[in-house]
Amino acid sequence: MSTTERPRILVVGGGYVGLYAARRILKKMRYGEATVTVVDPRSYMTYQPFLPEAAAGSISPRHVVVPLRRVLPKAEVLTGRVTTIDQDRKVATIAPLVGEAYELPFDYLVIAMGAVSRTFPIPGLAEQGIGMKGIEEAIGLRNHVLEQLDKADSTTDEDVRRKALTFVFVGGGFAGAETIGEVEDMARDAAKYYNNVSREDMRFILVDAADKILPEVGPKLGQYGKEHLEGRGVEVYLSTSMDSCVDGHVVLKNGLEVDSSTIVWTAGVKPNPVLSRFGLPLGPRGHVDTGTTLQVQGTDYIWSAGDNAQVPDLVGRKAGNENAWCPPNAQHALRQARVLGDNVISGMRGFPQKEYSHANKGAVAGLGLHKGVAFIVVGKMKIKLKGRLAWYMHRGYHGLAMPTWNRKIRVFADWTLAVFLKREVVSLGAMETPREEFYEAAKPAPAPAVAAATKTEEKAKAS
Ligand SMILES: Cc1cc2nc3c(=O)[nH]c(=O)nc-3n(C[C@H](O)[C@H](O)[C@H](O)COP(=O)(O)OP(=O)(O)OC[C@H]3O[C@@H](n4cnc5c(N)ncnc54)[C@H](O)[C@@H]3O)c2cc1C
Repeated sequence: MSTTERPRILVVGGGYVGLYAARRILKKMRYGEATVTVVDPRSYMTYQPFLPEAAAGSISPRHVVVPLRRVLPKAEVLTGRVTTIDQDRKVATIAPLVGEAYELPFDYLVIAMGAVSRTFPIPGLAEQGIGMKGIEEAIGLRNHVLEQLDKADSTTDEDVRRKALTFVFVGGGFAGAETIGEVEDMARDAAKYYNNVSREDMRFILVDAADKILPEVGPKLGQYGKEHLEGRGVEVYLSTSMDSCVDGHVVLKNGLEVDSSTIVWTAGVKPNPVLSRFGLPLGPRGHVDTGTTLQVQGTDYIWSAGDNAQVPDLVGRKAGNENAWCPPNAQHALRQARVLGDNVISGMRGFPQKEYSHANKGAVAGLGLHKGVAFIVVGKMKIKLKGRLAWYMHRGYHGLAMPTWNRKIRVFADWTLAVFLKREVVSLGAMETPREEFYEAAKPAPAPAVAAATKTEEKAKAS
């Protein structure tokens, strides 16, 4: 890493906020004014709103991520985790992908570590649950679901078959409703290639502790979303939660019990727990406490935004809600990142800070091919759309919001190809253990004495 005499702006996290803030800083910075260092355990930014479509195979997974080194050529990008921050010495400890952890000095700090899945100590959840926060999980879910169809098609055991064809999704916000909508669509569509699996054999269940789904689009569209999913055969259970799922035996608080090989957990997010080691002021739910300028309370060299920050919602507060905070979504993350970038430059030059204020522009959600809901605010008008038109809005909005022209073009190309070509239904589950087969072929044969002993042991076990 660079050891120049320039001040260092350290950006912790290369997601939505980290990527856009670093780009903004680099754009506004004078040549040689500072070194911008971005640290993230992944070498790419993930466009999370497209994870459900990646899980359904509508977009190639690689097109949903943006390589940090390519889009930030003037920044220093380090692949690793920031594990601690020493504010007195202004140094961060970085745990790289390999090798010893090391210290990195900084002058200005941006905390943009996002959120992690919010889980509860539910028996079986850690072993059985599949999250939906990263591209790896989306790829894994797609392979897993298609593998369940392969299993169900090839078994003679009715219990195994029923378990394989039962899919449980917990959490009906953006992530949950979109994921079940996309995956159900993909799985039922794939059924036409299987002799022993029909669309009707599959059971999809959506569970939420709240009394509605899709709160982001408002009560009416949320209700429409629920009825729409129910119309497609999805069982929606509201005001209930999952008590346990040991070995895939799902028990809901409302008394329902089912066996399922697929339990997808999308029941909300919480700020990255690593924040508690940074010595920063945190809010009641663990978010970094920032002022309206995105500067961390009590500091003049640290900024934070996005899912890991509690940022006052000035629009909500002006409307009379004194406790309004910006919700954790891409719309705010993107806009906060720009203001944050400008404020870092101003802070470095000793200029005043700008306040962050953004009025909600609405929300769009895709629920499978040609299906969706959209709530758009234009001036004083609130437009509610559903069905195919909403789905076009969803694709148009996110397609254009996808960072970089390279990725926008690839995503639109994926969608265009899908109009002419059939959806890909191959499960590549073995991708998770690609060396297994080679290892079996290449591992040294056991010595004859060991082999004989193993055979005797096996015989003893069998009797
Ligand atoms: C499935 C899904 C669908 C969604 N759909 C929508 C939608 O339709 N509309 C919408 O507005 N919002 C949507 N969101 C929410 C939106 O994606 C987030 O609000 C947004 O990504 C937040 O940006 P962020 O920069 O705060 O966090 P992120 O984008 O999550 O970035 C955080 C980064 O920090 C990195 N990091 C973590 N730990 C460390 C560490 N110790 N050191 C260094 N780096 C670290 C992570 O690897 C990650 O790259 C969706 C989210 C999900 C999961």
